[in-house]
Amino acid sequence: QSQEFSQVRIDYHGALLALQEHGTRMVCTGKMHTDRICRFDYLCYCTEAEEFVFFHSNASVMLPNLGPRRFQPALLDLSSVEDHNTQYFNFLELPAAALKFMPKPVFVPDVTLILNRFNPDNLMHIFHDDLLPIYYTMQQYSDLDDEARLVFMEGWGEGAHFDLYRLLSSKQPLLKEQLKTFGKLMCFTKSYVGLSKMTTWYQYGFVQPQGPKANILISGNEIRQFASFLTERLNITREEGDDYIVVFKRTTNRLILNEPELLLALAQEFQMRTVTVSLEEQSFESIIQIISGATMLVSMHGAQMITSMFLPRGAAVVELFPYAINPEQYTPYKTLASLPGMDLQYAAWRNTMEENTVTYPNRPWDQGGIVHLEKEEQERILASKDVPRHLCCRNPEWLFRIYQDTTVDIASFLDLLRENLKKPNPKKAKVASTVHPGRVREPKCQTSVQASNEAKLSVSWQIPWNLKYLKVKEVKYEVWIQEQGENTYMPYILPHQNYTFSENIKPFTTYLVWVRCIFNKNLLGPFADVLICKT
Ligand code: UDP
Repeated sequence: QSQEFSQVRIDYHGALLALQEHGTRMVCTGKMHTDRICRFDYLCYCTEAEEFVFFHSNASVMLPNLGPRRFQPALLDLSSVEDHNTQYFNFLELPAAALKFMPKPVFVPDVTLILNRFNPDNLMHIFHDDLLPIYYTMQQYSDLDDEARLVFMEGWGEGAHFDLYRLLSSKQPLLKEQLKTFGKLMCFTKSYVGLSKMTTWYQYGFVQPQGPKANILISGNEIRQFASFLTERLNITREEGDDYIVVFKRTTNRLILNEPELLLALAQEFQMRTVTVSLEEQSFESIIQIISGATMLVSMHGAQMITSMFLPRGAAVVELFPYAINPEQYTPYKTLASLPGMDLQYAAWRNTMEENTVTYPNRPWDQGGIVHLEKEEQERILASKDVPRHLCCRNPEWLFRIYQDTTVDIASFLDLLRENLKKPNPKKAKVASTVHPGRVREPKCQTSVQASNEAKLSVSWQIPWNLKYLKVKEVKYEVWIQEQGENTYMPYILPHQNYTFSENIKPFTTYLVWVRCIFNKNLLGPFADVLICKT
């Protein structure tokens, strides 16, 4: 393996000289450790000490130069999970002169992206925390191209789906453990450290109970482009053919106990072929192939549901929750399906019948067992009909309930689908436009006083500049009128480019008027500069 970085591929003496003379150079983006990504020349890693090393010389650059704030708490997050104290990155410092007394460095010639995977045994975490952030971090920096080298420093083995990480570049990703085989001191000629958090939509509940992130910055468009990239790399082509429903089952825990009955009910209700898949029985590729042509995906809550990002537009996602679990509190897949531009329908079903659940109190704690708890606590959990909100990750009541098996009550399940889903129809789904209006142009107001208690305010404007190039189904305008000095305003939605207001308009008063354009009910444009109108 070590000939992979065969030192003849680069000018070894040139590299060593550059390192000794120039030392390490670092320039970062981001104001805080939580939004920082750093680019390095000659960042080194000491495999014995398991520490990154920054070599100081006269030509070194360290921007930001935080002094001791670099340890409060760290330079940056090495994974996409925000501010997790097991995922921090920092380096040790040495003078470049110390290189004379150190093992000969091995140079990594590739442009390298150094990061931590968060939980590479769980498919949801693999996609949400690693693959999407890596993919879009690479898009952000053009030298992180198909030849880039990924280095995973979290210290885990390959994990269950290492092949997915291999799709991101043509070079074999390296694990922390493997670095040792190359030598005692490795120096990355050019590297980026850290991951963009721009693509993540869910927080797992380390500080507050889990839920969608407060400020989601990704839309369905970016998810779908990433999904197409993967399907292309996997050589998957969507099969055209009849409509069908996929039930994604789990086979070791959180089972659907009456699966044949559920399949039959779905097939009859929708008059469609219904197939099952599981990670244990199919290859990941064949599952994606099947899902990418499906009309509906039905599954117990769980990481396998991240594959809903491969569903065609217009398809439906139906998530099943075991007894005593409130679907509203566990929404990574609902949030995904609901991202603007994902164009998926979503419905959650919850088992409300205790007789339809099977519990496993005797299992180990991490599979939801509770026999290790005090008798009183066990009884409280068994009697509870709703898991109270909780933090990640070891809440025994949550684990006990989420690892139950469930007999799905067919009547309530079908009722839910009838109430919540439009006829799922991937074939007809169109990409909704996301083009926003520009500002309205030349906004003007004119006023007149009719009587001592009667006045008129006429407002007019021109269409936004981009409208003349667009086909928009519905163009409306919103006008806000505020009496100067008042806290409230009157909003109006108008179909035309002018309007005369007379109700609630007083003589000898100053009004502030804002106008903006709205496409198709929900695509809001910016307000034009405020108009100051005196009656
Ligand atoms: N898993 C599976 N079948 C099972 C149980 C788990 O395929 O019967 C997969 C699951 O999709 C996830 C991983 O194993 O990728 C870990 O599952 P776990 O129950 O720990 O996590 P969860 O699915 O609740 O996120």
